[in-house]
Amino acid sequence: MNGLDALEQDLSRQLVLTGHGGADWTRPRAAGGEHVHDVVIVGGGQSGLATAFGLLRERVSNILIIDENPAGYEGPWETYARMITLRTPKDLTPIDFGLPALTYRAWWEAQHGPDSWDAVDKILRGDWMDYLRWYRRVLALPVRNEARLDLIEPLDNGLHRLHLAGGETLLARKVVLATGIQGGGEWHVPPMIAKALPRTRYAHTSEAIDYAALAGKRIGMLGGGASAFDNANCALGAGVAEVHVFLRRKALPRINPIRFMERVGFTGRYPALDDATKYAVMAAFLGHNQPPTNDTFARAAAWPGFALHLGAPWLSVSPDGDGAVVTTPQGPHRFDFLVLSTGLVSDPGLRPELRLVADRIARWADRHAPPAGQANALIDAHPYLGPGFELLPRDPADAAALHGLFAFNYSALISLGLSASALSGLKNALPRLVRGVADQLFLDDRDVLVADLIAYDEPEFLGEWPPREENAAA
Ligand SMILES: Cc1cc2nc3c(=O)[nH]c(=O)nc-3n(C[C@H](O)[C@H](O)[C@H](O)COP(=O)(O)OP(=O)(O)OC[C@H]3O[C@@H](n4cnc5c(N)ncnc54)[C@H](O)[C@@H]3O)c2cc1C
Repeated sequence: MNGLDALEQDLSRQLVLTGHGGADWTRPRAAGGEHVHDVVIVGGGQSGLATAFGLLRERVSNILIIDENPAGYEGPWETYARMITLRTPKDLTPIDFGLPALTYRAWWEAQHGPDSWDAVDKILRGDWMDYLRWYRRVLALPVRNEARLDLIEPLDNGLHRLHLAGGETLLARKVVLATGIQGGGEWHVPPMIAKALPRTRYAHTSEAIDYAALAGKRIGMLGGGASAFDNANCALGAGVAEVHVFLRRKALPRINPIRFMERVGFTGRYPALDDATKYAVMAAFLGHNQPPTNDTFARAAAWPGFALHLGAPWLSVSPDGDGAVVTTPQGPHRFDFLVLSTGLVSDPGLRPELRLVADRIARWADRHAPPAGQANALIDAHPYLGPGFELLPRDPADAAALHGLFAFNYSALISLGLSASALSGLKNALPRLVRGVADQLFLDDRDVLVADLIAYDEPEFLGEWPPREENAAA
């Protein structure tokens, strides 16, 4: 038996030992013969897969995951991420729910031997995706790929109708938006660039970019976070002649607050903070740009075509022949193509699938007034979530329309901390989400469940006194 087969046997045993499986307790809904899912999870990345496993552990199995990508290509890992390794430490245990055989380390050692772990520095990006594919397979998670949610339509009967691209619809009691980075808002493209240039002359790092087709050309890259250096390295490796990375700041980002958060319990305990403290913490957090890993920076900087411009914001951008001219305080630069590593904006109002409800969703601006001079527009636009990642209404009159919608994507950052935005947050955030969803399913049916409990009359004890004769004789 090979290592992976043996691990899968161990896992089966651990699932049995920890009481996985068993009959559901939720009450089926009828909707004119149409199937009603207890939970539809939108997004089949690590968050969506692990949410499904968490719900199965709670014996909620009438669930479905949908993802817009082909199977095995969910999330950024093998689509638009261009780093060689993950940026997070290898020892995190984000999605295993405490089952040793389900950890990345167990999966790795099953294939490479028990002594191989020490030699791993950081997890290779492709290996992480392979692990997620394995996770999905061994847990037999119900995923439908190439299914994109276009619209959530709240119905009068407490259900949500999910409109998929292509016209098909699904019915769900609960909808978990495990939709990743872009699912909380959108990638940010500075309007100055979008207005000045045709779409063919620039791309955001979140897009598919054919760097080989730009071989021999000069690229100007805006932004100094980790993705800029990943992309510079990838572009130069594909034959691009020069990549110039421009930072507004005068120094490279060096501090990664996530490392501190992992160390001192912020990943788990952040939700317990009061709103004013959350606001201050996240203002400081968002003030940092995630630095590149040391090896990525070293690789990028080693290419002769690499250049770094510090204290060099783009003041203007204009078309020039079939390229573009970028002007910084240091003067103009001409490029054949521009790449934007300019991050994202979280705001439910930017999400097409939320267009029927976005105006009704409470934002931080609605629920918290920071001290004068400390307002942060980025924070204010985030949804103000309940303790189980549920969207809350601005006006109590809209509670029914939003009931059952959970935002487990980047937009949860301000309310509940790292959660879905990095592996570092998942270990603590997933049980919170699963409890939130399962509690809501239970509470929605509390009247009938309580009535059934009160009426319950199934005997458990079968003994008799005095013993019946045939029993005594036996
Ligand atoms: C370049 C890059 C590098 C990163 N590196 C790290 C790292 O090293 N360590 C780390 O912890 N984090 C890293 N992150 C953060 C990373 O996004 C998360 O850790 C991880 O992807 C979050 O998983 P998720 O399942 O929440 O979201 P995702 O992995 O993004 O999965 C969400 C899925 O939902 C799908 N989806 C979205 N909307 C819809 C819709 N309407 N209908 C159907 N499907 C939809 C998406 O296509 C996607 O497949 C990185 C992010 C990027 C962009």
